[in-house]
Amino acid sequence: MRPPWWPSWSLGHADSAWGRVAIVFTLLVGAVSFAGSGVTFAKLQELMTTRPVVFPGLPVAMSVVLLAAVAAGVAVVLGGSLSLAVLLLVLGLGAGILLVLPVGGADVPIVISLLNAFTGLAVAASGLVLGNVLLVVAGTLVGASGTILTRAMAAAMGRSVAGILFGAFRGGSTAGSTAVSERPVRSSSPEDVAVLLGYAQRVIIVPGYGLAVAQGQHTAAELALALEARGIEVDFAIHPVAGRMPGHMNVLLAEANVPYESLKEMGEINPEFKTTDVALVVGANDVVNPAAKTSSGSPIYGMPILEVSEARQVVFLKRSMRPGFAGIENDLLYEPQTSLLFGDAKESLAQVLGAVKAL
Ligand code: NDP
Repeated sequence: MRPPWWPSWSLGHADSAWGRVAIVFTLLVGAVSFAGSGVTFAKLQELMTTRPVVFPGLPVAMSVVLLAAVAAGVAVVLGGSLSLAVLLLVLGLGAGILLVLPVGGADVPIVISLLNAFTGLAVAASGLVLGNVLLVVAGTLVGASGTILTRAMAAAMGRSVAGILFGAFRGGSTAGSTAVSERPVRSSSPEDVAVLLGYAQRVIIVPGYGLAVAQGQHTAAELALALEARGIEVDFAIHPVAGRMPGHMNVLLAEANVPYESLKEMGEINPEFKTTDVALVVGANDVVNPAAKTSSGSPIYGMPILEVSEARQVVFLKRSMRPGFAGIENDLLYEPQTSLLFGDAKESLAQVLGAVKAL
């Protein structure tokens, strides 16, 4: 006999009208989340362009799919057949794709968090259909925490969730330029960078996605310790969407035992760049790109950035002149106070660390 706390797997409430409403909700929201997550996965893996995909008929296509989904949903509630439920599922998949295609650049992390919240709501609704309290509670918790995270991320990025989802439908341009220019840049050696850092008073390290790719967090932490041993004040500047998942940089640096008090959030650290000798940008690009402030057609326009250009010297550690996730050029790379140390971030950090120790 099943114990009282064991979930019931019967389709207990599926025959009532409310049960069918819950089924429609589960199918539609679940399908939107599934297809939307597939598109964001393809964007993150760079299996498709990471930029917003907008085409002329998009608002019409979205309206048709949504109206058809509502009609199919009402028909299922009124006692429709399995084929109508399958149609609803297909329409939900279409809506998920159309909803996420036009989102790009800095808005992708917020959409990922929103889809996560949707998934929780779909699970909670399926719990209602199955009469399973565990599913209802777990789904509601995921939905609620995902919603809170989505709102917090949107607020930190100065975006509205509706603006992110429907901005492209209102005809907002998110084009920006992908061309990598032929302008000259100043490249440095590890020894040059070590001299800059070793004789500074204040250094801010700005980690980004490339640090995670290179798994250079332990070497970055060691470099910070070596500089601090020389009496230099060192902090890490954390942007809310640096990396490829919320909290990515916090997790990465915590793993390398960087003290929590050395991690400074964007609002706290930005005023300090003015009095900073060297901003060392390790595998970050979009989160320091001034185009977010100056280029209204850019996919990251409006995103708050780390103001590294205010520092006296800026050093980028990256492998090439390729852009970051949003696919746009970063003018800061060409500024006179900027130098670039090309190479894998972990190897470059190790070489700089060796040169700092040798000073
Ligand atoms: P970016 O993607 O803008 O830039 C990463 C940089 O790292 C690139 O310039 C790349 O240049 C460099 N890089 C990559 N691999 C290495 C390596 N092994 N060694 C050295 N450099 C390397 O990263 P940011 O962190 O600045 O910005 C995050 C972006 O991702 C934002 O646009 C954000 O919206 C988006 N995003 C964030 C999510 C989140 O939740 N945090 C989720 C989804 C998207 P090169 O190839 O020349 O080396």
